[in-house]
Amino acid sequence: MKIAFIGLGHMGGPMALNLHRAGRSLRAFDLSADAMRPVAEAGVPMAASAADAVDGAEVVISMLPASRHVEALYLGDGASAGLLGHIASGALVIDSSTISVASASKVAHAGVARGLAVVDAPVSGGTAGARAGTLTFMVGGAAAHVDRARPVLAQMGSHILHAGGPGAGQAAKICNNMLLGILMIGTSEALTLGAANGLDPSVLSEIMRRSSGGNWALDKYNPYPGVMASSPASNHYTGGFSVDLMLKDLGLAQDSALSTGAATPLGALARSLYAAHSLAGRGALDFSSILQLLQPH
Ligand code: NAD
Repeated sequence: MKIAFIGLGHMGGPMALNLHRAGRSLRAFDLSADAMRPVAEAGVPMAASAADAVDGAEVVISMLPASRHVEALYLGDGASAGLLGHIASGALVIDSSTISVASASKVAHAGVARGLAVVDAPVSGGTAGARAGTLTFMVGGAAAHVDRARPVLAQMGSHILHAGGPGAGQAAKICNNMLLGILMIGTSEALTLGAANGLDPSVLSEIMRRSSGGNWALDKYNPYPGVMASSPASNHYTGGFSVDLMLKDLGLAQDSALSTGAATPLGALARSLYAAHSLAGRGALDFSSILQLLQPH
């Protein structure tokens, strides 16, 4: 089976390498020569363009930054025709970028109308999960299309969860990341209040972990420096998942809340706090650095 892989950045590069290591026949492309280099050096053939990459492909996978890139790639823009016109009828398209529910649905409906199988399959697990092949895929699309995608996704991740029809993977992703953003702010607030009361953040973390405040951030990703050696907080908030990517996902959640009429007051506040943190010059830091916004300077 021939696979075209488009978008070889922080996530797409390691995901493509995992497919290559699993013995898949790949042709890959990225607009950036720097992004293509490590994948090409591992022996994956590079295409001259996205249209060239999908020529004869039975599966097309994309991992691009945002909605506008995905829409421009598949549906075209003023500058170029969309890729959907180049992909062989019957092929499977898997977009793993995090984009809006509306964009994912638009691409899926256009693809299905051209005789393609299309799924949105955004991921959780970050760059470490992409490298280790342990990503969680949240998949939207017709059950038959999702079943076709499973064996390919299983070579890049450990959990493949069917959320519903077209766009449902993106809807699940923004719900999860909105909760994560809120959770990280709440956890940071509690630890900051404890420290202001003279508590040792490590002791307080353990108490809350064993109590009703226990959560994923306390278990795996403590935002207080020095509490957990492996967390970005103990490494000057480097590595991990950036403030700007969290801000992007919280923005997608708010777009969706506006279009559906859902009430997400804490999600809106979380977006504003992350926006202020980013504007203060901290957009490239790990998102757990939101704790710094709450601390005296
Ligand atoms: P990235 O910016 O590192 O990579 C995106 C790549 O897409 C770049 O190399 C860029 O050159 C390429 N690209 C853009 N338009 C293209 C086009 N038309 N044709 C070919 N290549 C094109 O981004 P990333 O960190 O790999 O993230 C990719 C997606 O995954 C985003 O939607 C992001 O929100 C999501 N995501 C990222 C993380 C993370 O921790 N980095 C975690 C979960 C989800």
